[in-house]
This record gives sequence, C-alpha cells and structure tokens, in this order.
Amino acid sequence: MITIKNAEELQKMREAGRIVAEVFELMREKIAPGITTAELNMAAERLIAKRHAKPLFKGYNGFPAALCVSVNDEVIHGIPGPRKLKEGDIVSIDVGAQIHGYCGDAARTFPVGEVKPEVAELLRVTEASLYAGIEMAVAGNRLGDIGNRIQTVAEAHGLGVVVDYVGHGIGRNLHEAPDVPNYGRPGRGLRLVNGMTLAIEPMLNMGTPAVRTLADGWTVVTLDGLPSAHFENTVAITPDGPVLLTVL
Ligand code: MG
Repeated sequence: MITIKNAEELQKMREAGRIVAEVFELMREKIAPGITTAELNMAAERLIAKRHAKPLFKGYNGFPAALCVSVNDEVIHGIPGPRKLKEGDIVSIDVGAQIHGYCGDAARTFPVGEVKPEVAELLRVTEASLYAGIEMAVAGNRLGDIGNRIQTVAEAHGLGVVVDYVGHGIGRNLHEAPDVPNYGRPGRGLRLVNGMTLAIEPMLNMGTPAVRTLADGWTVVTLDGLPSAHFENTVAITPDGPVLLTVL
C-alpha cells in the first residue's frame, strides 16, 4: 500500500532523517585507514541510541547491525566486522533510523584517503545520478521519470545500473510500496502525488551491473569484482517540489 503523509508525519520523518544525516557526519570524521567496519557500526549505534531512536536495520530479517557497511566491490548489505579499511578503499554506509514511529533511510559512499581518479568519478557520478532522479520527484511525474534520469546519467558515464535491487516507499515502515527502480522509461509507471515519501537509491557499478550474494546470505557484490557506489536519500514529494528528509 502506498501511504500519503500529512505535514505532521513528514515532520516526524524529517526528525528521523536528521538523525540519519548525523550518522554520516560521524562517519565522515571516523572513516580512515585502519578503522574496522565494526567500529564504525558501534559508533553509529551509540549516536542513534543517544537520540532515542531505533536503528532500523538491526534485526531486520535477522541483520545483525545498525549499519550496512559495503567496501569496494561490495554493493549493499555488507555486515560490519573485523575488516580494516585501507587507503584507496571506498566504503558505502547505509543506515535507517526510526523515531516517533517514522523512518528515515539513506546511504553515502565515502573514499578512504586518496582513491584512484576513476573511483572518485564513480562516487561523483553516482551521487549526481541520485540528485538527477530526485529532481523528477514532483507530483504529476511518474516513477519512470525518476528511474530514467538516474539511468541516463549512469549510462552517459559508462556505469552499470544495478537492477536486482531498487529503492522503495518509506514511512512508518522501512520498506513500503512502491518499488523505485533506478531505470525506466519517461512518462511510464505510477503517477507521483504530494505526500508520497520515497527512498531513492542508485547503486552504480564501474563494470557489469550483474551482482551476486556471498555465502553469508547478505553481502551483495559485483560479479566482476569492480567497485560499486551507493547514494540514497529519503525524499518527500510536496507542492514546493522534492524535499530531502535525510539531511542535517
Ligand atoms: Mg533504502
């Protein structure tokens, strides 16, 4: 079911989204060669607890942590652990928080120290594709308009759009209808209306868009081992245009 939020509900989602954005500020400070992905998760869990919010991913279908931490060729759903980040790595942090019954969900990919120019470009283009998609999150447009924009930016730079995983509606629940693909045809798909809230989240690969899941049952990696980036925001469709909920 697609849920339409009123102003009061959007305010609660904004509060959840601000906590998610605070986690990224903390990550930006902490991410450096030598830190483990488990240490990043612990720091995030402490911050979310301090804000009296609920870490949405922890326990979700049995996922063991507040953060998904995905390094280099890991696309999404990486499990925090003893792995130490190294100079030149990239690390995708995906986090969800719930407060007053409402959710925020977002992701960023961070460079660890200096990364190769083509890797920096992957991060830059993936973030740009997210914002190109968000621009289309306007009442009267259709879901295909969002996906098409993301796909167009990705393909113009020779990047692979992951199609096995997509964005989603969000509200009281982390995952609500509709699916929000990162590809599509302009003017096709569900018509967008004010009060919808969508988690838009392109996952772009330097090489093939094909992915597989590791034996841990969670970690999704690129089939060719090349790096992948992930940027996501929770966005409200409003009469004033798209409003980012997962920012400070
Ligand atoms: Mg999401």
